[in-house]
Amino acid sequence: MSLDEDSLDYHRDDPPGKIEIRTTKSTTTQRDLSLAYSPGVAAPCREIADRSDDAYQYTAKGNLVGVVSNGSAVLGLGDIGAQASKPVMEGKGVLFKRFADIDVFDIELEHDDADAFVESVAAMGATFGGINLEDIAAPDCFRIEERLRERMDIPVFHDDQHGTAIICGAALLNAVDIAGKELENLSVTFSGAGAAALATARFFVSLGVEKENITMVDIDGVLTTDRAESGDLDPYSREFARDVPDGGLEGALEDADVFVGLSVGGIVSEEMIRSMAADPIVFAMANPDPEIDYETAKNARDDTVIMATGRSDYPNQVNNVLGFPFIFRGALDVRAAEINEAMKVAAAKAIADLAKADVPDAVRKAYGDQPLQFGPEYIIPKPLDPRVLFEVAPAVARAAMDSGSARTEIDPEEYVERLEA
Ligand code: NAP
Ligand code: MG
Repeated sequence: MSLDEDSLDYHRDDPPGKIEIRTTKSTTTQRDLSLAYSPGVAAPCREIADRSDDAYQYTAKGNLVGVVSNGSAVLGLGDIGAQASKPVMEGKGVLFKRFADIDVFDIELEHDDADAFVESVAAMGATFGGINLEDIAAPDCFRIEERLRERMDIPVFHDDQHGTAIICGAALLNAVDIAGKELENLSVTFSGAGAAALATARFFVSLGVEKENITMVDIDGVLTTDRAESGDLDPYSREFARDVPDGGLEGALEDADVFVGLSVGGIVSEEMIRSMAADPIVFAMANPDPEIDYETAKNARDDTVIMATGRSDYPNQVNNVLGFPFIFRGALDVRAAEINEAMKVAAAKAIADLAKADVPDAVRKAYGDQPLQFGPEYIIPKPLDPRVLFEVAPAVARAAMDSGSARTEIDPEEYVERLEA
C-alpha cells in the first residue's frame, strides 16, 4: 500500500483524526459531578479570581499548549488554508504528547490578515500554558510572533523558526568542534532567507558566530546593501544585508566554512561543495529533497564533509521533534513567561552535549544497530532517544529560572527524577 493510501486509512480509522479529550478526575458519582461542575466548581473559580496564577493549580492550563496556525505555509504544501492544515496541527499535538506528555488544542484560524490573527491569539492566553505558532508564512510570521510575545505572559514560540534554529545550532556546535573550527571565525552561507533561515542565522549569532561573517542568498541572489537600499528586502531580511558584490550562491559558497540550506532542493552542485573551505560543514535541510544530496556532498571532496539533512534515511537528521516537546516541557514546568534566548541556547547546548555521551543499546537497536558514536556521522542525538527529555527539559527550566522567566522555582535534581519516573 502506498504511503498516501496508508495515511488516509490511518486518519479515517474510527474515530476520525488523531486526538481526543479525556477526563482526568473521577466522574462516576453525583458528588463527583457536582465537584467537576456546578456548584462545586465555583470554589476554584473564586481562588483563581483572587490569584490568577492559581489557574496552574486548579486547571489544565499548565500542561496545555495551543498549536495555532492559519495554514499559510504548511509543510511543503504552501498556503492550503486553515481547514486543510488541521491534520498537521493534530499531528503536532501527537508529537507533543508522545515525546513530552504535553496536551494540545490545535487551533486553525481563518485569518489571512496578520493583525486579526494577533488579536485572536492574544485573547487566548487564559486557556494555555504556552502557544506554539505553526506553519505561518514569512514575513508575517515574524511580526505575529513579535507582537504576541509582547502581549502575552506565556511562552509564544514559532517552531518553524526557533525549533529549527535550535537543532541547527546544536548541530553547528558539534560540527565546529569536530572540524576544529572556531565559531567566531566561521564564514557561513545561507541559502534561503525565510522563516527558518532568518531565525537560524540570528540564533547562530547568539551562539557566537559573527554577524558580518554570514551571507544570505534568496531566490534573487545575495542579500546586499544595494538590494536593501532599493527596497527589495523586507525589514527582517534587511538585517543580514551585506555590502558585498552579488556573486549568487556560487560566489557566496567559495571558501565558506558552513553552508546552511533552508530553501529548496537540488540547487547546490558538487563544484560548489568543492569550492568551500577545508572540512566544510554542509547542512542541506530543504524538505523533502535537500539542496544537495548526501552522497554527492560527501563524495565531492577528499577531506571530511560534515553533512546534515532533514531526512531520516541519512545520518544527522535535523528534525524539530528533538526540540519543541522538551523545550515546552521545561518552560511549562517552571511556568515560564516566555522562551527567551538564554533558554534556547541552553536547549541547543543540552542537545549538543547529549550527542557526546555513549548511546544506550536500546536507542541503537531502534535505529537498526547503527554505530551512533560522536563524530561526523553523529553530531546530534536521534529523535527516539528517551534521554533527550531528561537533558533538554531540565536545561531549559534551569535557564528560565536563572534568566528570570520562571514564575516558580523547582529543584533541578528532583525534577529530573520526576521526568524519569
Ligand atoms: P520560507 O519561509 O518559504 O523560506 C524559503 C526561502 O527560500 C525564501 O527565502 C525563498 O526566497 C528561498 N528560496 C526559494 N527558492 C530559492 C532558490 N532557488 N535559491 C535560493 N533561495 C530560494 O520557508 P521556510 O519555512 O523557511 O522553509 C524553507 C525550507 O527549509 C523548506 O524546504 C523546509 O522544508 C525546510 N525546513 C527544514 C527543516 C528541518 O528541520 N529539516 C526545518 C524548517 C524548514 P524568496 O523569499 O525570495 O522566495
Ligand atoms: Mg512546521
